[in-house]
Amino acid sequence: MFLKEYFSTIYQSVKSLLTGMRLTGYYFTHPKEIQTEEYPDNRATLKMFDRFKGEVSMPHDDNNEHRCTGCQACEIACPNGTIKIITKQELQPDGKKKKAIDAFVYHLELCTLCNMCVSSCPSDAIKMANTFEHSVYDKRQLTKILNKPGSKIMEGVE
Ligand code: SF4
Ligand code: SF4
Repeated sequence: MFLKEYFSTIYQSVKSLLTGMRLTGYYFTHPKEIQTEEYPDNRATLKMFDRFKGEVSMPHDDNNEHRCTGCQACEIACPNGTIKIITKQELQPDGKKKKAIDAFVYHLELCTLCNMCVSSCPSDAIKMANTFEHSVYDKRQLTKILNKPGSKIMEGVE
């Protein structure tokens, strides 16, 4: 009885090993059919899927214009103080002053990528970018200003 069980276990183990080896051998001779991506070798061409949330970003158009009014809704919605909106008063052509964004400070090192800021923005000014590999040696590099230098708000966005 003991010997029967003993040899049965050996038989099952060898069978399982050969099953795995058969698959390994198949992919060895058919490299084009390999499904797994060779990360990080494919880093330059790797594109994350659309719903991947890598960091908060602020899209700008070709005229260096964004949609952020500086309303601070995203800052209030953020559960952990990742966003700091610094505003300024801008002089309008009619002589009146209007609130505008000076700096959209984003602390990627704090961000949990929960998307609440994006959902709360009434102007559709920010979105989740699907960038990846954010590791740095100095965490100060993770503090970002999302509005580009010299940018301004798009006409018609209130
Ligand atoms: S994704 Fe979440 S944690 Fe990150 S800035 Fe937006 S609200 Fe804050
Ligand atoms: S990103 Fe949106 S919610 Fe945040 S300050 Fe700008 S307009 Fe307001």
